Amino acid sequence: MSFTQYTKKIALIDCNSFYVSCERLFNPKIRKKPVVVLSNNDGCIISRSNEAKTLGIKMGEPYFKEKEIIVKNNVQVFSSNYSLYGDISRRVMRTLKRFNSDIEIYSIDEAFLDLSNYSDKEVEKVGHEIRSIVLKWTGIPTSIGIAKTKTLSKVANHIAKKKQSGVVSLIGIKNIDPILEKVEINDVWGVGRQLTKFYQKNGIYNAKQLKNKSNSWIKKNSNVLGSRTAMELRGISCIDLETTVSKRKSCVVSRSFGKRVESFQQLKEAIANYSLNASEKIRSESLVTKSITVFIRTSPFQNRFGFYSNSKTIDLPIATNNSIEIVKTALNALEAIFKNGYRYQKSGVMLSHLSDSSNNKNLFSSEKDEKINNLMKSIDNTNYRYGRSTLSLASAGVQKKWNMRKEYSSKIDTADFYSLPKIIVT
Ligand SMILES: [Mg+2]
Repeated sequence: MSFTQYTKKIALIDCNSFYVSCERLFNPKIRKKPVVVLSNNDGCIISRSNEAKTLGIKMGEPYFKEKEIIVKNNVQVFSSNYSLYGDISRRVMRTLKRFNSDIEIYSIDEAFLDLSNYSDKEVEKVGHEIRSIVLKWTGIPTSIGIAKTKTLSKVANHIAKKKQSGVVSLIGIKNIDPILEKVEINDVWGVGRQLTKFYQKNGIYNAKQLKNKSNSWIKKNSNVLGSRTAMELRGISCIDLETTVSKRKSCVVSRSFGKRVESFQQLKEAIANYSLNASEKIRSESLVTKSITVFIRTSPFQNRFGFYSNSKTIDLPIATNNSIEIVKTALNALEAIFKNGYRYQKSGVMLSHLSDSSNNKNLFSSEKDEKINNLMKSIDNTNYRYGRSTLSLASAGVQKKWNMRKEYSSKIDTADFYSLPKIIVT
């Protein structure tokens, strides 16, 4: 019996240009055209099609900086539509779970999947199968990297992205040094900006150099995370799949109104207040949320005024516990479901897909995040000392419009009947 058959095998499945791919699903005309998607308030470019990449449009650049290339090349521009992306993401993840329920949903468009129950020989074929089924069932193209550790599966995925086949397996390759040599140190999973600077100062420019650095040097010069990364590059799995999302799955704040509420303004203030309370609650437990749901309803017993009940979920691109962002998103959700002329009796906010805030570092993390974290901390401390709502947001009481700029939204909402595409038969 061969034991190698049962080595650990981890696949990293990453959706290609995810937001762009979602927009293309409902808009076949832009399939072969250069496309970009903008961040909240149409600020920066956060997703690019391959055609847009070829034009030299950079990731994370402010929109206005790239406007000239965009106009000149007739690049299709979209405001982000997170409820659409969240819905498509759930479909992709549901499809992946059919291959193994041991899955770690790493971000809106990425997941680690344990494929250890497949043999070394068949695992690459399984990768191709996953890719084609996800494409067939959801319409989303993916890249898949398979290796013995999470860090190496990220490397494999990096290579897969540039390949036509879209699938790369490092399982069974005896010497992966030539592959690791081509991976720049800042592209190694878990190596951030600071660590990159430090490694480069010490002559480590690529993944191979980190892998072959002596254990004693790594132990002396980096922290636990650093040595885990080096071990993982050597094929020794140290970072487990996080298949359970969090201690607590969701956090709900809801109330019945003492007196029926009809005005949008009043509902808005209520939702803003619940959002603030919920944000404070998850911060106190060191959690971040990826998904915000708002619900409103009238009394089921007062039919003469008409019954109405609805809810709306908005998925965030990056998990957060920032009150400002949570309130803003919740108010957008409310705006989507609010209907005039009803006497509302109850409303609430639910934060879900909660996870540990300590794991919440990513591509977009910056010093600004640090500042916001500190601001949130001081708000919490002040309110703890002087009573809740000593420090609050203007939207929780003062009239204020929270309209997000969304000039180029595709306005597709997979949860909205009226957004269904129309087919005209002639
Ligand atoms: Mg992606």
